[in-house]
Amino acid sequence: MEQLQKEGYQTGLISLTSITHATPASFYAHVTDRDMHEEIAAQLVTAKVDFFAGGGKKFFNQRADGKDLFQSLVEENYYLDTVQLSNPVVDRPNAYVLAEDGIPSKTEGRGDFLKDATKMALDYFDQKKRPFFLMVEGSYIDWGGHAEDAEMMVAEVLDFDKTLGTVLDYVKEHPNTLLVVTADHETGGVSIGKYYEVDEAGNKKEVNDKVAVYFNSNQHSGELIPVFAEGKGAEYFQGIYENNEIYHKLFQAINQNKK
Ligand SMILES: [Zn+2]
Repeated sequence: MEQLQKEGYQTGLISLTSITHATPASFYAHVTDRDMHEEIAAQLVTAKVDFFAGGGKKFFNQRADGKDLFQSLVEENYYLDTVQLSNPVVDRPNAYVLAEDGIPSKTEGRGDFLKDATKMALDYFDQKKRPFFLMVEGSYIDWGGHAEDAEMMVAEVLDFDKTLGTVLDYVKEHPNTLLVVTADHETGGVSIGKYYEVDEAGNKKEVNDKVAVYFNSNQHSGELIPVFAEGKGAEYFQGIYENNEIYHKLFQAINQNKK
């Protein structure tokens, strides 16, 4: 994002975790450990991110150093909301910090936060008529894997899918946009297999029109993960490659789009 900001890009981050959590933080912070949430929050204040939405209030206003970083964000000209997503204020950077730590999971009643925040960000960037980079994280898919909780994982994938539908509509209307969908790893060694019902006598009977989710572990796995791409520059993302190639491919696509 720092490189893109120098080239005039607007930048945005949306996460279901604290906005200081590892994935969003990796786009703006420079620290030696992912758990340095208070230091990461302090770096976000001056990172010039145009639009961000997620959780993590406590890292802004209940800090060991006693500082109130919400006040600091306002001093940096942010429009700040700590209660709900509101209408984007286009002539200022926007910050939405809506939970003490993570935003609730879907099964805990999160509602449509991910889709709504994404739509808001796209509207915000669109009105400003400048190129943009937006990262949206469906964070709890991974947490469903750690919990070996199939119901949670399915609900989170469906929520992410709904959000993706909104983004695909945007790409269709704005063909000069590149969309890349991926993960940093798989979690749980998940597979889909036969569904069995067990009767009172303990007999297992396969149910033909149902499937079950099976977990192989409660940790990150070494499975290959998919990279889906749509729009201008999508062709750079074909084949099998190391994860760090994604960064280089993004810049190849951006440089091609300049031509
Ligand atoms: Zn994980």
